[in-house]
Amino acid sequence: MDTSNIILVGPPGAGKGTQAIMLREKLDALYISTGDLFRSHLSNETDLGKEAQKYMSAGELVPDALTINMLSQELEKKADDHGFILDGFPRNVVQADALSELLDRKDLSIDLVLFFNVPNDELVRRLSTRYTCKVCQAPQNINESEGNATPKCNLCEGELYQRSDDAPESIKRRLDVYDEETKPILNYYEEQNLLTEINSVGSVEEVFTRVEGALQ
Ligand code: AMP
Repeated sequence: MDTSNIILVGPPGAGKGTQAIMLREKLDALYISTGDLFRSHLSNETDLGKEAQKYMSAGELVPDALTINMLSQELEKKADDHGFILDGFPRNVVQADALSELLDRKDLSIDLVLFFNVPNDELVRRLSTRYTCKVCQAPQNINESEGNATPKCNLCEGELYQRSDDAPESIKRRLDVYDEETKPILNYYEEQNLLTEINSVGSVEEVFTRVEGALQ
């Protein structure tokens, strides 16, 4: 397969993280999630983590300068032989411009932007039942396992927790921020003929089949 540098865009709760894990296995590509990077800074109590936390728990975007710097270091650190999957970056047009400059300097380009589309009421339902693995970061919905006091990750058996930004008041703000700041990058990539929309309603496997179709 030729396509190797892929960006995943979509509202919070659209299933990007879950699909990214499957895509990473299929393509053996470098996977970078800016949300995971921030959460890792947070659990290591770095200065960046402490700064980012203020924005994350409020459902706001972390300032561009901090985010772009972190992403650029991550891209530098890793080899680019296998292509990359970017999950959660860019999240606004400033970041999209910065990414294109970073890639130009490395003589790289974006092959495909996958836009995961889900109606708003479905997003709210998914986010409020979403738990995340402390070990492998995989997101999963556990509304069916009510009464299970210590739910375990269905991939690695790690302990699951509810992200503080999946609390109801943050969910609303994150969806608004997505509409105001992130949606404009859909046009940005559409104009470059890079955007493919994925209907992200359905089972994880159904959605992944659509993703595979888009890679052809
Ligand atoms: P995510 O795991 O992608 O939902 O990201 C969780 C939170 O991390 C977001 O709500 C933001 O506060 C922050 N974050 C992640 N990626 C970015 C980004 N590209 N720009 C700014 N903030 C980000």
